[in-house]
Amino acid sequence: MSDAPDQNGGFNAERKMQFLFQLRQKGITDKRVLEAMEKVDRGAFVRGHFAARAYEDMPLPISSGQTISQPSVVGLMTQALGVQPRDTVLEVGTGSGYQAAILSHLARRIYTVDRHRNLTREAELAFTREGLVNITVITGDGSFGLPDQGPFDRILVTAAAEDPPGPLLNQLKPGGVMVVPVGQSDAVQSLIKVTRTDAGFDYDEIMPVRFVPLMEGVARE
Ligand code: SAH
Repeated sequence: MSDAPDQNGGFNAERKMQFLFQLRQKGITDKRVLEAMEKVDRGAFVRGHFAARAYEDMPLPISSGQTISQPSVVGLMTQALGVQPRDTVLEVGTGSGYQAAILSHLARRIYTVDRHRNLTREAELAFTREGLVNITVITGDGSFGLPDQGPFDRILVTAAAEDPPGPLLNQLKPGGVMVVPVGQSDAVQSLIKVTRTDAGFDYDEIMPVRFVPLMEGVARE
């Protein structure tokens, strides 16, 4: 771990400034989102020699063949979600835990689900290390949501579905918002914002994205 970022300054003042500059350039203007992203050291969620690149605006590999999303994409998704301080939020696709850590500074309570047990285990350790106490981590197939913990004010899906999963739509509170990448796994996907209204659901397209696919079932490791 000789190249871990904390051995060469970590998320120091200069890096923070550059990181926030990149985010603003990519269209992240929401003050609360920028403040939350300033508080979370992405280097704490990336392992091995990739940690040295934690503050660059690029996706990076994590365990189990998954990826931690590009910071600007995390920022734009978080901004689109419009999280309020009293919200209960469900994230599907814990991955490294980076996105959940940002949400934890913006909402009251976060539930995050991943189908890979080793990812949820590592993310949970990172949350404890970083002192983030309002996140509950669960291993499971997140496409069914968490019926016992819902309904949710906000749902963020960080893996691509062919369509917004029905159980997740059902677990949105009235007025609730879900952000989800939709499309075929290897084609261009669209990030969609779904708002639950009295009459049903409103759909807005936000931007083209590329995410790993939402898979069925719990992974074997
Ligand atoms: N939000 C993450 C990045 C997620 S990558 C971060 O901040 O690092 C997408 C994740 O979705 C992967 O970890 C993958 O294991 C998970 N995933 C895919 N299908 C899933 C499902 N049905 N239920 C829960 N997690 C799923």
